[in-house]
Order: sequence, then structure tokens, then C-alpha cells
Amino acid sequence: MSKSDQLFEQARQTIPGGVNSPVRAFNGVGGTPRFIDHADGAYLYDVDGQAYVDYIGSWGPMLLGHNHPAIKAAVIKAVEKGLSYGAPTEIEVLMAEKVRQIVPSMEQVRMVNSGTEATMSAIRLARGYTGRDKIVKFEGCYHGHADSLLVKAGSGALTLGQPNSPGVPADFAKHTLTCVFNDLDSVREAFIQYGNEIACIIVEPVAGNMNCIPPVPGFLEGLRAICDEFGSLLILDEVMTGFRVSLRGAQGHYNIEPDLTTLGKIIGAGMPVGAFGGKKKVMQHIAPTGPVYQAGTLSGNPVAMAAGLTMLELLLEPGLYEQLSAKTARVAEGLKAAATKHGIPLAITYVGGMFGFFFTEESDITRYEQVTRCDMERFKRFYHLMLEEGVYLAPSAYEAGFLSLAHGDKEIEHTLAAAERSFAKLAG
Ligand code: PMP
Repeated sequence: MSKSDQLFEQARQTIPGGVNSPVRAFNGVGGTPRFIDHADGAYLYDVDGQAYVDYIGSWGPMLLGHNHPAIKAAVIKAVEKGLSYGAPTEIEVLMAEKVRQIVPSMEQVRMVNSGTEATMSAIRLARGYTGRDKIVKFEGCYHGHADSLLVKAGSGALTLGQPNSPGVPADFAKHTLTCVFNDLDSVREAFIQYGNEIACIIVEPVAGNMNCIPPVPGFLEGLRAICDEFGSLLILDEVMTGFRVSLRGAQGHYNIEPDLTTLGKIIGAGMPVGAFGGKKKVMQHIAPTGPVYQAGTLSGNPVAMAAGLTMLELLLEPGLYEQLSAKTARVAEGLKAAATKHGIPLAITYVGGMFGFFFTEESDITRYEQVTRCDMERFKRFYHLMLEEGVYLAPSAYEAGFLSLAHGDKEIEHTLAAAERSFAKLAG
């Protein structure tokens, strides 16, 4: 029995499912999750001493690789001064200024502790600002686990939302309308019926929670236009895409100006940080300047800010995103070539530092329903073959993969050689 097996058994006694976030339990692929001992650069090391090339990067934050020396040094320096004060600090001001410098649509910014808090707060603000209750989200997009967002589409295209989880009152869910990602007609229909009641559209500009699905040309522009027409706010949830798709996130890559943006993951460099921000006239509605309540004991925590600010400063290095995109393209195209060589139909998507692969005969993946039609059994087998080869992919066919700047030739060559052997076994 491996140490991971032992720890998983032990963990399940005191932690539900043995994990503090469900996807870590390997429910999507079966088997025992690897318990991690430490990480460095592009590698994770488990408690049994096995090394893995990591394509999860702590689910996004590790854009510069694990254990980055400058970020580590900044954290240690901050820790030496104190862990938390519950009072304003200079570094929070510097952080807000840095976010605005990089993402100019975020004229004002509020720090929180997770992506969930960021989206929950942005939606409350949008509702408070517009005086409307309904929101529009998209099937297959994930925005954290606030009640209004754990909602699935009702039975008909235009019925009101239904809870996606026990514990979410139907009375809350009915305010959430669920449309089809990359289908502007579905959004127009929702607005024709409910337009004057809709506070906001919230969207992952590149969907990364249904594998990886970029927006089709015109989709994000269309959402912007519909919001403008009906006086609703456009919230780009850039928790995943922020500082990953490009320095200025998806809004920079696709040139879309949102009213509000939510951030998480990379902005904390691995520390628990989220943020939401946008137009000053909207942000002024947040307490204490405005009536919409939002707060946090540890928000803007000095140690977390030290990590995040150092990360953002490092990201300003010229050429960094060209390198990241080239690495991502090499991995995604390499997977496709290896699969094709062994007669395995595989579709790929990639943008900036995120990618997806789909076991399907279809070539152009733009819709959630296409993801649900993929060969999940093949994905599971491939996943475990790659894990045995020392490649750590997201343990679910509904998650995007992430590259880091620490993924060098050696790691990418190892990954593609492992993929070739794995596809050969799948084909055999
Ligand atoms: N929004 C998006 C787009 C996400 O991908 C996630 C998490 N994967 C969240 C929000 C929630 O963030 P957190 O897990 O930090 O609460």
C-alpha cells in the first residue's frame, strides 16, 4: 500500500471524502489521489517520492512554476513583520494600483480571499447597483459555490433556474437564468423575456470549467452589446483567465471592456486571494462609500498581498506571454499529433496558458453539450496512463489544463513522449 493510499484512507475518517475540495478526490477518474509532499518549478512530488510534470499548477495560480524564489522571499519577509493586522496597509494600495495598471477597466478594486467571494460580491454589487434581482450565467461555466451560482438550467430553454445542489433554495435559484455558452440567440431570448429584471451577465470569457472552450468570434462582443442595450452589467469572471490568457487577461486578448471583473488564482500566487473591481461609479456603491455590504477579516492580508504583488510585478517582464503561449501550443499540438499517429480522434483547444483536449470525432469544440458527448472512459484510461508516466493532468474531463513558465523543453518532451506511449496503449 502506498503512502498516498494510507493517507487517503486516514483522511476519509475525518475529512468528507478525504479532501477539502471535491475534484481532488479523483472522482472523475477513479483511483487514489496523490498526496503531495512538495513542489518545485514544473514538478509536483508526492509522499511516495514520485515526481510529476504538473499541468494543474494548483488549479491555476502557479503561472511562474512552484516555489518561485522571488515570491517565496517576499512571503518570508512579510511573515517576519506580522501575519494580519485587520487595519489598512501600504501594500494593499500598491496592489490595487498594480491591478489597475495591468487591467485598466478595474478602476477600483476590492481584495477578498477566494474566487467564490469575488464573484459572490460582484453579483451582489451588480444587483445593488441596478436594483434588479435576476442574473444570467452559462451552462458549464463555474463561478465558485455561492448560492446564486450553483444553479442549472430549468427544463425548457427559458424556464427559471433550478438548484444544482441541495441546500440552495429554489427561491434563490429562480433568479438565475442559464443560457448556452457561445450562443448569443439564447442570451437574446432571455433578455427579450426578462431584460429589465436582469442585473448582470456573468461569464468565463474563456470557459475553463467545461474543459477549455474559447469564445467564438462575436460572442463576447454580443454580450457587451446586449448588456448596454438593457442597462445590465457585464461581469467577466477572470478568476481563471486573468493574467493567464494574456497579461490583461481575456479582456485584453479579446479586447472587451467589462463593467466588473473578478480575479483569483494567479493574483494570489498560491496564497488565498481573490479580487473584484471595475468602473469607479459602480465600485463606489460598495460599503463604506455605498450601501452594498461586503467585508472580510483577512481581506488584503499582508502575506497574501506580498505574494500577489510580487507575482504581478514579475508578470510585467516583456515577452513572457509569448513564451507561455508558445509552450501551450507545443503541448496541445503535440498531444494532437501523437493521438493522430495512433489513430485516436482527439480535438484540442488552447489560448494563452490554458488548453483542453477532447476524446471526440468532432473537430471544432464550441459548446458544452459537445464536451458531454466525449469518450469519458478513454479519458480516464489516458489519465491514469499519463499519471503512471509521471504527468499530472487535471483529474476530470471537465477541467482545463495549465502551463507555467517553468515548463521547459525537458518537461514538454517528457510529456509528449509519455502521451505517445499512452495513446499507443489506448489504440492497442
Ligand atoms: N470562477 C472561476 C472561473 C473559477 O475557475 C473558479 C475556481 N476554479 C472560481 C470562480 C472559484 O474560485 P475559488 O475556488 O477560489 O473560490
